[in-house]
Amino acid sequence: MADIIQLLPDHVANQIAAGEVVQRPASVVKELLENAIDASSDSIKLIVKDAGKTLIQVIDNGKGMSRTDARLSFERHATSKIRTAEDLFSLNTKGFRGEALASIAAIAHVELKTKQDLDELGTQIEIEGSSIKNQDVVVTPNGTSLAVKHLFFNIPARRNFLKSDNVELRHIIDEFHRVALAHPDIAFMMYHNGSESFNLLSSNYRQRVVNIFGGKTNEKLVPVEEETEVLKISGFVGKPEFSKRTKNEQFFFVNDRFIKSAYLNHAINSAFEGLMKDGSHPSYFLNLKVDPKSIDINIHPTKTEIKFDDEHTLYAILRSAVKHSLGQFNIAPVLDFERDTNLDTPYSYKNRHGATPMVEVDRSFNPFRDERIGSKPNYSTTSYRKEPAAQWESLYVGLESKGTKTDHHFSEVEFESDQKHDSLFSEEKQVETSQTTYQLHNKYIICTIKSGIMILDQHRAHQRVLYEGFLKHLTLKEAVSQQLLFPLALKFSSTEMTLLGQLKEDLEHTGFVFSSFEKDTLEITGVPINVPESEVSILLEQLISDVEQDVPDSHFSATDLLAKSMAKSLAIKTGQALTKFEQEHLVNSLFGCKAPSVSPTNRVTFITMSVDDFDKKFM
Ligand code: ADP
Ligand code: MG
Repeated sequence: MADIIQLLPDHVANQIAAGEVVQRPASVVKELLENAIDASSDSIKLIVKDAGKTLIQVIDNGKGMSRTDARLSFERHATSKIRTAEDLFSLNTKGFRGEALASIAAIAHVELKTKQDLDELGTQIEIEGSSIKNQDVVVTPNGTSLAVKHLFFNIPARRNFLKSDNVELRHIIDEFHRVALAHPDIAFMMYHNGSESFNLLSSNYRQRVVNIFGGKTNEKLVPVEEETEVLKISGFVGKPEFSKRTKNEQFFFVNDRFIKSAYLNHAINSAFEGLMKDGSHPSYFLNLKVDPKSIDINIHPTKTEIKFDDEHTLYAILRSAVKHSLGQFNIAPVLDFERDTNLDTPYSYKNRHGATPMVEVDRSFNPFRDERIGSKPNYSTTSYRKEPAAQWESLYVGLESKGTKTDHHFSEVEFESDQKHDSLFSEEKQVETSQTTYQLHNKYIICTIKSGIMILDQHRAHQRVLYEGFLKHLTLKEAVSQQLLFPLALKFSSTEMTLLGQLKEDLEHTGFVFSSFEKDTLEITGVPINVPESEVSILLEQLISDVEQDVPDSHFSATDLLAKSMAKSLAIKTGQALTKFEQEHLVNSLFGCKAPSVSPTNRVTFITMSVDDFDKKFM
């Protein structure tokens, strides 16, 4: 049989390589920026049109190329960065595969202008889909300008696969951030559709982070520095209270190269353990320096994943360095069993004077006040440490029901809060004579405290209060209900009824009374004491949707979920105006809670600002 194997023509091989190297406009941006850095530039300009679909141009002031090199740079495996296989183990450059320009030129219109310092004139080359259209001598500044137009012009499938301009631009900006963060000493500019998006001057690392992510970032950065034989770490982590729902402020650089590593990310997360709100992610901007010999960058065509010789050691060092920084900056509670637990204040107070979240409210406003003396609350031991939600129940187990089942029993929680509050703040009263609360935008409640002011999110704070109340009633099975004048009949689908059926007992413990639980109809004759009749159907619908969304796992607890859902439905909403009395009552009730600092879904309920903070702002 005849031989059938052929060598692929270069332009085909280049197109195939392009498939690996160039996924989208952002990949081109990354390769061109990296080439500019490898050319020792100190100022790099990125110009983008239509999210890179029409134009991506990078202009640098680096060392430029000779005429021959300019021509050769578009050949596959043409690189000035390595010569032998050994060089792969001592890489100081971003590139080394010699593939990027060849790949890009195979799938776009490329125009190169470049000039070296000592040359009078530069070189211009135009290439379309791997074939040279024009080569010339031109007048051009020192350095290189590479313009990539009509990306994927000859691969319609790839072009159609591109996402909207917004999405593609987002990817480009991400790459730009990564490169700019890895090189704070280099000035970077970016323009999109003619307007300036970034203008980053040469600076130190902190300034670079702040210039990219905004002035507010400055106060949240905690420096991390560590030097060991195998690893040098420098950079910042974000304070836990500023943690984000998204992961877009997470950066590792290894030897100035942005990398992704789920393993190292885990090290950071574990250093933050107990400090993070649910579903939020720590910010970090960390530079790791390791011996180039101890890593293999070659495992991924876009070089964002690398292999470390000794990952376990890096993990341990990284974790402890971050933990140390958080501890040093008084952010993480240090584990110390000898210590007085009263010192275990939430981390956000560590730096402040009069650290306990104290509130001083004129007691005469409170008609519920009585002379009972409560025990000292120990909420000082609560912090943002994440507790599996279900554990809250156990806080109440073993509590004796006091057997005072009056009609106003539900308010018991609030009475208790008041007492606690009383005993804690009584000394303060002599210090401040008048005390008031203020509602801002029907959303926040502001009140003065000894050290400055405290700002509560009314919706979240009330959720916390209601949640702990419901949980208590559910656990102690002692709720009181109010009789409805006429039974309330509500219709639900059969799956919804099944769900409600599973929760029936718990619902009864909150105060619901069902007279019938038929196929598709629920008849209710009693509701929990503080649930208005008009809210009942909304509340049950919300509950059903919460149960449906909650993936039952080991932490699943119907009781907890019910308490959360009801608290969410019934809590004072944002936008609701509150009377002075209501405002104060909410503040008091919140600080009678076991975990006043977070809502049932682990969001911050209040913040404080000290006089010192204000002083700084007025500087
Ligand atoms: P690699 O970066 O892996 O070497 P590229 O295809 O990206 O491969 O670039 C090929 C060569 O072209 C580089 O090795 C370098 O010598 C030269 N080159 C590319 N871009 C520039 C630039 N902006 N300034 C100077 N030389 C460049
Ligand atoms: Mg390159």
